[in-house]
Amino acid sequence: MRVIFFGPPGSGKGTQAKLVADKYKITHISTGHILREKLNDEDELSLKLRDIMSSGNLVVDDILNKIIAQKLLNNECKSGFILDGFPRTIAQSEFLLSFLKTNNIDINFIFDFKIDFKVVEERILIRSKEEKRSDDNLDVIKTRLNKYMEETHPVSKFFREKYSSNYFTIDADQKISQIQKELIKVLKKGEN
Ligand code: AMP
Repeated sequence: MRVIFFGPPGSGKGTQAKLVADKYKITHISTGHILREKLNDEDELSLKLRDIMSSGNLVVDDILNKIIAQKLLNNECKSGFILDGFPRTIAQSEFLLSFLKTNNIDINFIFDFKIDFKVVEERILIRSKEEKRSDDNLDVIKTRLNKYMEETHPVSKFFREKYSSNYFTIDADQKISQIQKELIKVLKKGEN
């Protein structure tokens, strides 16, 4: 099973991606998580990444495209994957579509998490205390939400048109357990 999750930061898509990946034994690819791990390298690249990420801006497409190409070709993705946080720009989605075509990979489901931005701001402030992420404060959240609207929302629209029968909108204002139920219901139907 191959899935893409769209949704603004704080919409809970990472939590849901983890749950679905565990249930269906597929690989959860969170580009935010991969980039945060790179920060530990403390080399020149990691210093640049830290600056960009802690300001809430997006890391350049080239870095992300390379990370994704490497991941998707890896054996761990053979049984399926969930893309969480990629593609985030039109350039990334063009790269992804061409990569999928070249490698004969289909996408089975796309979920778009919709949520009120006020709820996101509250959630992220709580998360900042729990996870101590440097990009979880109000100014940075606003930049991240703006980036989402400017760069990623057009991408989700583009995928909605291209994959209209595999594209599902999720009301992400709901409780984690309720969202999980909705996702599983759709995924089960697709299995038949
Ligand atoms: P996330 O955990 O998905 O919210 O990502 C945290 C940060 O990592 C983002 O605010 C960006 O700076 C960077 N990032 C993650 N995924 C991408 C992507 N696909 N393109 C560009 N930057 C990304």
